[in-house]
Amino acid sequence: MDKRLILIVLVFLLIALIFIFIKVITNNDNKDGDNQPPPKSTTESCENIKVVLESDNIVVNDNNFLLANIPNKTNPVQLKAYKVVGGTKTFLSNDDVTYLVDHPVTWRINKEQASQIISVNFQGQARYLSEGYVFVVANYNKCNISSNKLFLATGDFYKNSQNDNVVAVWPKDFKPLNSSYSFNQLMTGYPNYLRNINKAYDVMAELYRGFRPFNGNTQVLALLDLPEHCGGNMNPLETAPCCYMECSNGEPQYNVVVHEVGHNFSYSLGMEQLTTANNSKIGAAGFGECVASLPVIYYAKDFYTSPEKYGFSKNNFEWQYYKKFLEGDIPYSQGTLQDFENMINNKQIKGVFDNNGKFDGVAVFCSFFQQYAYEYASSTNLYNHNMIRRFLRLFDDQKLYNFNDNKIETYFSAAFSAAAGLDLKDKLQNWGFTIDSDYYQQLYPYLLNKSNN
Ligand SMILES: [Zn+2]
Repeated sequence: MDKRLILIVLVFLLIALIFIFIKVITNNDNKDGDNQPPPKSTTESCENIKVVLESDNIVVNDNNFLLANIPNKTNPVQLKAYKVVGGTKTFLSNDDVTYLVDHPVTWRINKEQASQIISVNFQGQARYLSEGYVFVVANYNKCNISSNKLFLATGDFYKNSQNDNVVAVWPKDFKPLNSSYSFNQLMTGYPNYLRNINKAYDVMAELYRGFRPFNGNTQVLALLDLPEHCGGNMNPLETAPCCYMECSNGEPQYNVVVHEVGHNFSYSLGMEQLTTANNSKIGAAGFGECVASLPVIYYAKDFYTSPEKYGFSKNNFEWQYYKKFLEGDIPYSQGTLQDFENMINNKQIKGVFDNNGKFDGVAVFCSFFQQYAYEYASSTNLYNHNMIRRFLRLFDDQKLYNFNDNKIETYFSAAFSAAAGLDLKDKLQNWGFTIDSDYYQQLYPYLLNKSNN
């Protein structure tokens, strides 16, 4: 035989032997690797896998909004990640999962800071380090699939009744910096706190014709404890400890909370259209903040007028609270509107869109409504603070009728007039609104009819 042929056969045999040897070694590795995950089934596909993150202590479970509380710093809460394939739920071991902690307020709190509020170790134990809330996502490493967001908040869970739309997670012994009042003192000293906020929430839902923000998910009050920070909306509510309560005397800050929840309600389709149209012309001039306060003014006035409607009496702290608010607010808004109109009359400004820092646009916008809410009930304007109700009910969760983005000032004016039940075109033009008469005439009867119903 040719020597070269023998050499080729030998090399071929050697390659075959090495291949068999590697195969045997690999199989052995799998067999005795006790700490190794089982060999990946060739039939497991990463398609159709859903990863679910749950926990003990779930206090809110609204499908797409899941929240658990961690009551104290001593005992961590165990998180549990599952994979769901075709209806079968399998627990995922720690080796298969990476937990990621983050915060919804990313413009103020980064990932690292979020982990200083609540940390989650590789075993899925979530630990309360400081006051606040975060969300956690479990990543299934093999397929790189993320779970739902699980919200975690530090503190105790507070709920007033089974039907509550608003609940709180507050650490009961926590006293904010420079305060000698704890949340436990707030909740025991003012036992109607959550009941009152829930009544205000129900009123807001009625004002927006049944719209409830975040698909009707339970609204959670939790703490966003940052320096120089007071109110913030969203869910959980991004509000600071000393804005849920007045830290100098431990009293509730109902108006701040209702204002912030009021922002959430202004996410109805109709109200978003009004405030954001034409580069947020109306919203940026001051109405975007005022709109969150309209329910505050309405609720204060309605509560003060008929506390029994909300299950309260005139002896309650709550009635006294709203009495005090109205006593300060009515003269303030009168003064604001007077000063604003004087500036127009003295030709210092052309109107509400000609600001340049000469006036507080939020206060001016609110004073338009407050004027009618407080003062102008007469034989021609019967509505009083119902003016606010009639206005907000025009902006439910529907797209606006006959809407013209470029003529938003006319839309606002027709809606304001319809809510007052009076044609206030001249007054609004004097306040600086540019009004297209034809468009106004199309809108006014429709909106008046909608306000009445
Ligand atoms: Zn605001």
